[in-house]
Amino acid sequence: MTTTLITGANKSLGYETARQLVALGHTVYVAARDPERGRKAADELGARFVQLDVTDDESVRAAAKEVGQLDVLINNAGIPGPFKPANELTVQDYQDVYDVNVFGAFRVLDAFLPLLEASDAPVVVNVSSGLGSIAMATDPTVREPAWIPAPIYSSSKAALNMLTAQYAHLYPALRINAVDPGYTATDFNHHSGHQTIPEGAEIIVRLATIDRTGPTATYQRSAGVVPW
Ligand code: NAP
Repeated sequence: MTTTLITGANKSLGYETARQLVALGHTVYVAARDPERGRKAADELGARFVQLDVTDDESVRAAAKEVGQLDVLINNAGIPGPFKPANELTVQDYQDVYDVNVFGAFRVLDAFLPLLEASDAPVVVNVSSGLGSIAMATDPTVREPAWIPAPIYSSSKAALNMLTAQYAHLYPALRINAVDPGYTATDFNHHSGHQTIPEGAEIIVRLATIDRTGPTATYQRSAGVVPW
């Protein structure tokens, strides 16, 4: 039996990923910062609930203790940050987004590493974005949507990508990959995405269900590899 924890799983891509993994027989922990929303989602899905705010050390540590055993970690929780002109952005804006998208992923990975290391087939999926690709952002032949004016969000996902590559080298027993779900209609973008939520979740589920012979240190979307 595979035990899987998904951060930010009370709605949208995290919720759909949980739904699909429950259907595939995983024991799924719906991790959510809000107990009411999280419990409701877990009950609907036939999953377990664990309270976890990725910005809160104590909450993350307590969740790792409560879960006790883990094979697959999906760092899905993420925020877009403020939509305002670049010359109005503040250090605090950067810190707020990085606290979820970068430090949050590190906090959770760090706290759950001892559990993952005890697994026969430990897997980590970091839910990144195509906007985190420096290769695409600097390719003159690619413009929209590989580049949009979103310096905080895009740089946070680029940092998450490097965290993925670094941890893949540091922990070779782990299968750790970054995925781009693609532009998906969720609350994240006020439902402007052109993909459905199941379409967006497909690559997350695909990389969450690899075995120990699966890839590590890759960056993938549904259509294939994403250039770093
Ligand atoms: P969403 O609809 O905004 O859902 C985000 C989830 O993250 C919610 O469950 C939210 O919980 C949770 N979350 C936010 N801050 C948290 C915190 N501090 N601790 C724990 N959970 C927290 O977003 P989504 O579209 O499903 O996006 C999921 C991931 O995919 C994100 O990492 C995003 O960057 C990435 N992504 C999305 C798209 C897209 O087009 N949608 C494209 C590329 C990448 P609450 O309900 O409590 O706020």
